[in-house]
Amino acid sequence: MCLAINRLNEVKNNDKKIIFTALLLLTAVIVFNTLMFNYQRPTGEPQSLPVLGDTSELIERLSQALQFKTISTIEREAKDNQSELVKFHQFLAQAFPLVSANLSLTKINDHSLLYYWQGQNSQLKPMMLLAHQDVVPVAQNTLERWQHPPFAGYISDDSVFGRGALDIKSALMGQLEAIESLLATGFKPQRTIYLAYGHDEEIGGSQGAKKIAQHLLAQGVQFEYILDEGGSILENGVIPSINTPVAVIGIAEKGYVSLELTVEATGGHSSMPPPHTAVGILSQAIVNIENHPLPANLTFSAEMFANIGPKMALVQKIIFANMWLTKPLVELILSKSNTTNATIRTTTAVTMVQGSVKDNILPNIATAVVNFRLMPSDSVNFLVSYITDVISDDRVTISIRQDFQPGSAISSTNSLGFKVIEKTIAQIEQDPELVITPYLVVGATDARHYEKLSNNIYRFTFNRYSPASLNQMHGINEQITIKDYIEGVKFYQQLLLNSQ
Ligand SMILES: [Zn+2]
Repeated sequence: MCLAINRLNEVKNNDKKIIFTALLLLTAVIVFNTLMFNYQRPTGEPQSLPVLGDTSELIERLSQALQFKTISTIEREAKDNQSELVKFHQFLAQAFPLVSANLSLTKINDHSLLYYWQGQNSQLKPMMLLAHQDVVPVAQNTLERWQHPPFAGYISDDSVFGRGALDIKSALMGQLEAIESLLATGFKPQRTIYLAYGHDEEIGGSQGAKKIAQHLLAQGVQFEYILDEGGSILENGVIPSINTPVAVIGIAEKGYVSLELTVEATGGHSSMPPPHTAVGILSQAIVNIENHPLPANLTFSAEMFANIGPKMALVQKIIFANMWLTKPLVELILSKSNTTNATIRTTTAVTMVQGSVKDNILPNIATAVVNFRLMPSDSVNFLVSYITDVISDDRVTISIRQDFQPGSAISSTNSLGFKVIEKTIAQIEQDPELVITPYLVVGATDARHYEKLSNNIYRFTFNRYSPASLNQMHGINEQITIKDYIEGVKFYQQLLLNSQ
């Protein structure tokens, strides 16, 4: 008996030793991973860039560009917009005489612009910079909340105000300013450079970017890389838990699809209703959808979290440095913020609902529309089968709405294009705390129309966004600081020099 108890204690002690050693090892691994979890930003001094001359002239030209009401609305036949585009083209021709003289310009579908600047070395694949000429409208009921009228191009002490200041006439003008200044020095590019400026990006780009892409495809052009909007410098506080500026370069973008849910039922008078009307059945389906978000996929954001994780507070740093162990916890943390949740899963937004037209009539039919932003890894077919399972009710029919767009291809972070963009950001933005990282764009850009023209499509403009200024894009008091704009021009100068 005594022997047996001793043996039992021995076994227990052995177990304890094993558990203790395992815990010690685990702690050591966690500590080691945390210590090794660092971000090394690329470094580099800016080259001596072409002199920009009197910056007030650059600012004046940006201000003028913002005064053209190149507004995209769903009623695309709006004649006003078309004549504003024509006027805008005339302005560009005069504002950039060297560009006009040295680059050839093709107008695609009347209003989109494609510039071509022939390189000296035909062995090098061309590169292309994108922007768009159009802007979103200004809601009439917000007009009085603008500090300065949205189409006046008002220049204050430190900023230029107007619709398009951030999205994205500043990039279009910045690119042309950079090229004009390079031409003034006699610069001749080795690599052929294209500039493509669609005129209807804000309503999908089907008449602009899509047509430009078809034109280039027909010519058989393939690009070393293409740079569009979609990423920028996010100041402290934009990404939750990060107290350092982060430059995000989009390497892929999410897709867009809306599903329509329909329930048909016997209508009639509401005085003797069944327990569930068509609206009731539909509501249950909606609740089920909202309660079952699509599965998280950390793959697309893994590189981003590897880069920004080291800048997090210690507890989060430990968690992100040990994803092999903490993945479920990471998913939970990221799911809690709408911003980060959108980067790890296909998101679900119930946006439209319709039932009966009168309070005392039972609905014959009830419909709802749910908008999803698809992860590049989730196909539309997968989505439909997932949602069918989640609803699990034959009375609800699901159909795919027109105009869906799958998620984009994913561009490499090892390509010449990515490396050049990353290096250029580091050269222009000297802040040693800056993190530069690839990321997944959650909105849609013109870039998706160009997928067949290059494997290397990136999304970045040299704009800075604070939590406050994020709302200015498509919002009230859209403005860009003079400092940011000038640095944006330098960014394009340096980028073009780096790309040779
Ligand atoms: Zn835009």
